[in-house]
Amino acid sequence: MGRRPTKFDDLTAAVRFARALYEDLSFRYVSAWKHDHPGGKALGYLPIYIPREILHAAGMLPVGLFGGGDRVQVIRGDAFFQSYICHLPRTVIELALGKQFRAFDGFIFPSICDVIRNLSGVFRLTFKDKYILYLDFPQNFDPSVGAVFYRHELERLANDLERLGGTRITTRKLNRAISLYNENRHLLFSLTGLRADFPHKLSAVDFYLILRAGYALPVEDHNAFLSNVLSLLEAVDAEAEDKIRVVVTGAFCEQPPLGLIKTIENAGCYIVDDDFQLGLKWIQSDISDDTEDPVGALVNAYLRQSTFSSAVYENGHPKGEQLARLVKQRRADGVLFCVPSFCDPSLLDQPQLERALDQNHIKHFSFQYHENLGQFHVIKEQAGTFSDMIKLWE
Ligand code: SF4
Repeated sequence: MGRRPTKFDDLTAAVRFARALYEDLSFRYVSAWKHDHPGGKALGYLPIYIPREILHAAGMLPVGLFGGGDRVQVIRGDAFFQSYICHLPRTVIELALGKQFRAFDGFIFPSICDVIRNLSGVFRLTFKDKYILYLDFPQNFDPSVGAVFYRHELERLANDLERLGGTRITTRKLNRAISLYNENRHLLFSLTGLRADFPHKLSAVDFYLILRAGYALPVEDHNAFLSNVLSLLEAVDAEAEDKIRVVVTGAFCEQPPLGLIKTIENAGCYIVDDDFQLGLKWIQSDISDDTEDPVGALVNAYLRQSTFSSAVYENGHPKGEQLARLVKQRRADGVLFCVPSFCDPSLLDQPQLERALDQNHIKHFSFQYHENLGQFHVIKEQAGTFSDMIKLWE
């Protein structure tokens, strides 16, 4: 595949490019980037969020890793984990043991759950020649506690990266990186808003793939790609179908197979917002990019500007209320809880989220999946029934 997105003349070609990135489980684009950036380091990171600005300022390529989905047969991965946990770490291990991560110089494991913590331990023991960091995030959002803790974590990360890459992370470079990621978020929010308003113009799968390219491409390239896609979308003339509008939640870490996303839409549900790729839009507004203390700006952004998720503490703003607000903002007819099997954070939060939706008279429905699910007909029937129920009775 091409190393960089050229300017595409039609949406089909743009989506084909994004799909090729998604399907490249040998991460040839990482090798290509390293070829073009002699001495440059590439770091993989697990869901959900890391401050990629620091990696960019260190001259590195951050690449989001989600496992192998339904395209990897798990042979050795099962030996590392008990049967009653989610599927994602098994394919991550399978890819790692299969040497598909050979282009990576290290891995960052954000603190989402025990599974990711344990996976970082497995990597530390198994891949001793790679840089491995378990990056802890504050669960206490009081600045006198959480900010002090998180600044310490980010300074540790920055020091490590300076040593690994041999590049100093200056204030200027960090401000520049923040500015590029601010632009990225603007473009992502524009595209998300456009799709929520006109979901018939771009299928849910194509939208997913276009966003997902942001986990593979350097931010400059993803910005150019998103601008290109936004202008191509203006010319799309498609007819809206008789479908309900749903917010999908619960799938922020292990990703559903593309077939499942397509099934939801084919069952009569336009997905007008979701948390599939939450990390890209974790910070909800601009981060200060003209400051003497850019690390402090990243810390503040995490504490004050991040979105809600089952992977973090409630922070004084009930998550159920935030979900209900999102449903109203997107003029959605209901919520689909689309949750990976055995995902503790997602499953533990679900009852309180459902309670808040009930209090707000918002219809909801739930099902579970795993990343290599191959049969969707039961989910199609259930989502179709949910859609019909809303169309008939609401
Ligand atoms: S899918 Fe859920 S349980 Fe599994 S690693 Fe992700 S957050 Fe943890």
